[in-house]
Order: sequence, then C-alpha cells, then structure tokens
Amino acid sequence: MTSAVRVHAIEIKNKPLTEGRPAHWANEQGTTFKNPWSSWRNHDWRDQLYIVFKHPIAMPSQSSSANLASVIPVHKPTWKHEGNDSQKLKATWLGHASFFVELPARRSEKDDSLTANIPSRGARILFDPIFSDYCAPIKLPSLKRITPPACSVDGLPEVDAVVISHDHYDHLDGPTITKLAASSRKPHFFAPKGNQEILKYFGVPESNCHILDWWQSRRVEVLVPVKDEPSQTVPVLFDLTCTPNQHNTGRNFMDRFRHPDTLWSSWVAREVLSEPDSASAKTVFFAGDTGYRAVLDGQDEDTVPVCEAFKQIGEHFRPIDLAMIPVGAYMPRKFMSPVHCSPKDSALLFKDLKATNGLGMHWGTFVLTTEPVMDPPMKLKEACEELGIEDGTFVCTDLGQTRLY
Ligand SMILES: [Zn+2]
Repeated sequence: MTSAVRVHAIEIKNKPLTEGRPAHWANEQGTTFKNPWSSWRNHDWRDQLYIVFKHPIAMPSQSSSANLASVIPVHKPTWKHEGNDSQKLKATWLGHASFFVELPARRSEKDDSLTANIPSRGARILFDPIFSDYCAPIKLPSLKRITPPACSVDGLPEVDAVVISHDHYDHLDGPTITKLAASSRKPHFFAPKGNQEILKYFGVPESNCHILDWWQSRRVEVLVPVKDEPSQTVPVLFDLTCTPNQHNTGRNFMDRFRHPDTLWSSWVAREVLSEPDSASAKTVFFAGDTGYRAVLDGQDEDTVPVCEAFKQIGEHFRPIDLAMIPVGAYMPRKFMSPVHCSPKDSALLFKDLKATNGLGMHWGTFVLTTEPVMDPPMKLKEACEELGIEDGTFVCTDLGQTRLY
C-alpha cells in the first residue's frame, strides 16, 4: 500500500519574532530578501568580476579532481533496518547536499488506537536532492560531478517530503524535482518564500507545494503501512520548520545585482510523539547552504562577527540529535566566506547549535571552489580537535553510507 501524506499549518511555540517587518525582508511586501546580520558582506562589483570571470579558471582541473575522487568510496545504500535499528534516526549522504533522512518507526501523537499498531517505517525526508550530472543549466565540463550519486531517483525508497534550501542549481535541481514530482509516490515539497513558481515549472502540483518564511512551520502526517499488517495504515508525524541561514539565491547572471526575490533557509524536522515519549522525539537540522562570517584578506577570522542564527536555532530546538552542515566550497575565503562555511566555520556552527551529532556535506561531488577536493573532511577533523569536539561526533561519511542515531 502506498503511503498518503497530509500537511497542516501550525504555529511553533515561542517563535522568535520582531515587531514590524522581519529583518530579512528587503521590501514591505516580503518579496525580496537580505541577510540581516553584521556577519554578512555583500559582494561588490570587483568581487562579482572575480566570481564570474576569474574564479572559473582558478579552480582545480577536473582531471586532478577525478583522481582525488577515487578516494571517496561510493556504497549502494542499505535502506532496510530491522529490530532496534528501525527505532533509530537514519541519515544517508547521497552526494553534495543531498541527504535522505528516515525518522524512527515509532507511534505518533495522533495514533490513539488501543491496539499497538507499530508503523513499518518512520517518515522520510529528502533534502536538496541533486541526481543530475551537472549543477548548471549548461553542460560545462568544469561543473560535471566528480562522484556519482549514491543511487538513482528510482533507487530511493518511497519519499514523503522533499525539502529545498534555496534555488541555486546545485540545491534545486530541475530534472530531479520533475522526476520526484512525477513519481506515483506524490511527495510533498517544502521550500522558502519565492520558490512556488519554479517548483510549479518543474511539475510540482500546487496541492503538494508548501512555501514558508523563516520561523514558519508545518505538521506533516504520513500514513504508513502497519508492521506485519500492510493492508492497514498508521500515522507518523513530524514538524518541519523553515529556519534562517546566511546565503543568497539566484539562477541568472543579473540576479547578482539586486535583492533576490527568492529566500534561502535551513530547516528543522522534529518527530511528534505522544506523552510520555515526547521528550525523546528526534530532531534533525539541515543547514542548507550557509556562510558563518565574512572574512577579508588579512583579517583575523576570530575577531569578525558570526551569524547569530545558529545559536538561536540551537536554543529553540534543543536538543538537536543530528545536524547536517556544509563543509566545502570555501576558498578563496575573501569571496566565499559570506556564503559558504570553511570546515572551522562548520565546527563553530555545530558548537553554536549544541547538536549531539554532525554530518558534513557540500563537498566531494562538484568542484565549485579552489580548495583541494579532499581538504574538507581532513580540515573538519583538525577543526573539531582544535575546538574540543569529541572525535567521531561531527564527521564526513562515504557516499551512500547510512549513520544511525
Ligand atoms: Zn547556494
């Protein structure tokens, strides 16, 4: 039996609110956006010249990347987990920022039946899926993937929710969206403000499209088959909240020169369990694409302002069981630091969240920047050591590897 998904608007408790127009709205209507923190720096025209004309030729060549890529193992994912493992949170890195997350297979708040109907699986969320060979509208050899996705779209188990962080090509991949939207599974799609039209263009029906502003939430109810009784269903629930991060958006050259009309975001998903289990509800944070602080050449990194959003998110949603955080595409720092974390930024961000576990992403798949391809996991390990993060707590995995929590 195919699972059905229902989505309800909800208000999160103690939502951080400011009076009047939200600080990230660049106009009264909330149709253009900006980063509201002193940790942000706008790229000026000199930066834009570098990014558009010089940066593409400064990147490591694809041939040297291809050699390095052979040391990032790719595993065929194992989706089925039995016994105690089915009660755990599962996260599988599929490449770049694409993560497949399955929440524990547990009875939810809404299931008040007296019979102990155990769900056959937990709710499934697919973050920023990209399965295309190129992260660009044109097939530039320099933007071809250096590692394959861990599986194909057809190789995924049934997906309930597809969550998009922003509209850059490496995070909102048209062909992948079209394929997921056309599947008989009919997942629901969640994206920050301004993305309705593009999702519609790629085939997402309005009924399955949910567009949120920062600090807005939806309750997602998935009817899944009962374990050992697949003709019956049982609801599993989770709350999904659109949360801030520091980035920008745009799919065209001219988008670089105006306030973007689509928003960027991170996301938090939390299981909804009935009492007395609600305290053990698992929470995951997906950082999307984000910077942490803006550093100019010659500046001491540790003296510049950092993005306040992550402490706020950590405070609001604690405890966060798993945080998926970008660790790659950070060089040259002068240009990339406002929008992308270095591994040390990622480790600091992880500490701000006070998350229990972390997984690295946004590396080892496309060559977007000038750091050597294998640097992010190595430098993340060094940064974690330096910042006193326990070994093995915040790591990068192989492609297709599932971590259980
Ligand atoms: Zn981006």
